[in-house]
Amino acid sequence: MIPVVALVGRPNVGKSTLFNRLTRTRDALVADFPGLTRDRKYGRAFLAGYEFIVVDTGGIDGTEEGIETKMAEQSLAAIEEADVVLFMTDARAGLTAADLAIAQHLRSRDKVTFVVANKVDGIDADSACGEFWSLGLGEVYQMAAAQGRGVTNMIDYALTPYAEAMGIVRELDEEGEQVEREYTEEEAEAEQTRLQNLPIKLAIIGKPNVGKSTLINRILGEERVVVYDEPGTTRDSIYIPMSREGREYVLIDTAGVRRRSKVHEVVEKFSVIKTLKAVEDANVVLLVIDAREGIAEQDLGLLGFALNAGRALVIAVNKWDGIDQLVKDRVKSELDRRLGFIDFARIHFISALHGTGVGHLYESIEEAYDSATRRVSTSMLTRIMQMSQEDHQPPLVNGRRVKLKYAHAGGYNPPIVVVHGNQVSKLPDSYKRYMMNYFRRSLKVVGTPIQLRFHEGA
Ligand code: GDP
Ligand code: GDP
Repeated sequence: MIPVVALVGRPNVGKSTLFNRLTRTRDALVADFPGLTRDRKYGRAFLAGYEFIVVDTGGIDGTEEGIETKMAEQSLAAIEEADVVLFMTDARAGLTAADLAIAQHLRSRDKVTFVVANKVDGIDADSACGEFWSLGLGEVYQMAAAQGRGVTNMIDYALTPYAEAMGIVRELDEEGEQVEREYTEEEAEAEQTRLQNLPIKLAIIGKPNVGKSTLINRILGEERVVVYDEPGTTRDSIYIPMSREGREYVLIDTAGVRRRSKVHEVVEKFSVIKTLKAVEDANVVLLVIDAREGIAEQDLGLLGFALNAGRALVIAVNKWDGIDQLVKDRVKSELDRRLGFIDFARIHFISALHGTGVGHLYESIEEAYDSATRRVSTSMLTRIMQMSQEDHQPPLVNGRRVKLKYAHAGGYNPPIVVVHGNQVSKLPDSYKRYMMNYFRRSLKVVGTPIQLRFHEGA
């Protein structure tokens, strides 16, 4: 499971500066989809070999009447859900009453907390940081987030004990990408058969009240589905294994349906962190949107997370029952306008309440999973690369034609194609896009984003 790191501290200590530094590289995909903006609160980070979710809890000012009332509900929830808390202070401003109040709260929560003294640039750090020991939270870690000083070490220091306890293996490649092996035709085929027998992890996500619970109940209510009971913890989504028409699934239920059916347990509040973790853990994301509400900012935010995680994606526009044609037309044109840029995802119009259209979701989910995980041999990828070159030559760069040599797979879910050649880094974006679409069409990839990487030389 992916760790969640919460940034906590009073306003102006440098939380958003650190957040931006941590998430900038990983949230890059959003830049490819101009319809989406980055979430300023939640992001994915990769540093010191660890992938994690980072949450900026916003400014908490403990100086005013009692921290419990003053902390925003969201910030409190984020602290509860975090695996590791980075408690940020300002080494230049020194220790404040707000810091003490926040520290008291954190001590009472018994959370794994690391004290960070930020802004140590240009000051005598050791003497400035001494007083933060009195927060009673152990060692004080020195950092200058604006300069990036101490950031990687801090993450290493904070996450390594957690990762070791959880059996999370550090990825050593600096890009954070698994180095994929290359496949021959036979190996690719054998791997494909094996993958089709693995369960598809399907996260059902969406803002509150769009109909996630209704949909899950509808899916589970079908007679052909065999459900096994799995205990879950309160904090995380519930994992429901099921099989349908010979295919295994694990539904990742972010709405807490299974728990609701038990009398004693409380209905879960919507949690962005829970949703993010579900997305990270899924193969395919089913994003549910409410037709009656149109497309909300929160829908786009969740979509952004799915895209950044590179997940295969199916969109279900729910509550398609009992609305007249005029409304339907309006919803469709809004989808075109606001989601037209994700042309790879299938969109279904369904009624979870009546079951209309629900059965067809599986086709798109399976298609997306198969596209996202399909192993393709080096020889086939190289052949497609050559065909794309023959159809449309790469441009000249400095009077020389860019030479593409071969292509191989660099990862799956999302599929990554690595292209080797001379001057490939100089290829214009338009040609890269052309190649990406060429690979997509040739491989019949539907329902998942696809990534192209370029490597100079052989
Ligand atoms: P937040 O309110 O906790 O999110 O704080 P911000 O990230 O907005 O930072 C508040 C101010 O501190 C901004 O003007 C930052 O440029 C500045 N700042 C953040 N980190 C550093 C640092 O490491 N050194 C210095 N000198 N200034 C910093
Ligand atoms: P969740 O918060 O996303 O799990 O949403 P729920 O499944 O609890 O649904 C919220 C409300 O929408 C409930 O009153 C449902 O009965 C209603 N609802 C869910 N799906 C549909 C649908 O397809 N059509 C209509 N008309 N109402 C629906």
